Amino acid sequence: ADVALLAAAGSEGAIAVYDEATDPHRPERLSLMGDLLRALEQDEGLALHYQPKLDLATGRIDSVEALVRWRHPRLGLLPPDAFVGLAEQTGHIRRLTRWVLATGIAQASRWHAAGRDMRVSINVSARDVEDAELPRRVAALLAAHGLPAASLVLEITESALMRDPDAALPVLERLAAQGIALSIDDFGVGQSSFAYLRRLPVRELKIDRAFVAPLAQSPEDRVIVRSIVELAHALGCRVTAEGVEERAALDYLATVGCDHAQGYLVARPMEAVALDAFEPDLEFA
Ligand code: C2E
Ligand code: CA
Ligand code: CA
Ligand code: CA
Repeated sequence: ADVALLAAAGSEGAIAVYDEATDPHRPERLSLMGDLLRALEQDEGLALHYQPKLDLATGRIDSVEALVRWRHPRLGLLPPDAFVGLAEQTGHIRRLTRWVLATGIAQASRWHAAGRDMRVSINVSARDVEDAELPRRVAALLAAHGLPAASLVLEITESALMRDPDAALPVLERLAAQGIALSIDDFGVGQSSFAYLRRLPVRELKIDRAFVAPLAQSPEDRVIVRSIVELAHALGCRVTAEGVEERAALDYLATVGCDHAQGYLVARPMEAVALDAFEPDLEFA
């Protein structure tokens, strides 16, 4: 049974909870991380799937989000939720991100070389953007693959940005100066402080699917989504709505001027080869 232990309340009155179920030092979790390091070293079992983003103005797919998957030798196909958080807690996330960047940039450069204009978004974590080496590493990968910086987008959540803003800010500024776009992921659900929107070179807001999925049924969520689109555009950002599952939601997003839609209605994440042949199955006005 899981032992939950209430630790001392922090200065902000928050209560830290020790929960055996999420303890990164549990033996099977450590061995999972050992397996992950081996998979990264041997480049075996890890894969990126790509989820198309629909440009609502043109009805075309002009960008994708790279999402990591892991075919574990014993445990089978693992979703990112099964190992990304653990990699963050154990400090292995930078290794994983390096692999994701190298793989995603290599794929983007294949599309680029084939004449297909496709921006690729890659998810990065708090520890990645607190790493002063990140901008140089990304620049080296772009150069090695001959990929223009404008083809790369880095997605980061508000809470990851806020963990150590003093470390993250110079890294993000350098990335932006290199021409790499920054996207705020899961916008609206974090303990968000709009202050960073003034300080950071943000190019895109991604509206969390918590607001998008219920759009058709919820007037409140329609107000929130419309307001985020307005805020984003007023700040010179583009907007992607994630988790679009219903046609009514897509139509509403198009009506309020949202730039991109991403979700199962448009397409599920897929392998790169499947994307080459993919056309959205949607009638467009
Ligand atoms: P996210 O960045 O918010 O990614 C979107 C997630 O929503 C993906 O789950 C995607 O498959 C799922 N999704 C897309 N459309 C729909 C929809 O219409 N309905 C529903 N219900 N879900 C939809 P996935 O691939 O399991 O990824 C989960 C999370 O894991 C991601 O959330 C992201 O935070 C993290 N993640 C994935 N790949 C990476 C990576 O390479 N590096 C890092 N650091 N994190 C990653
Ligand atoms: Ca994301
Ligand atoms: Ca997201
Ligand atoms: Ca999310």
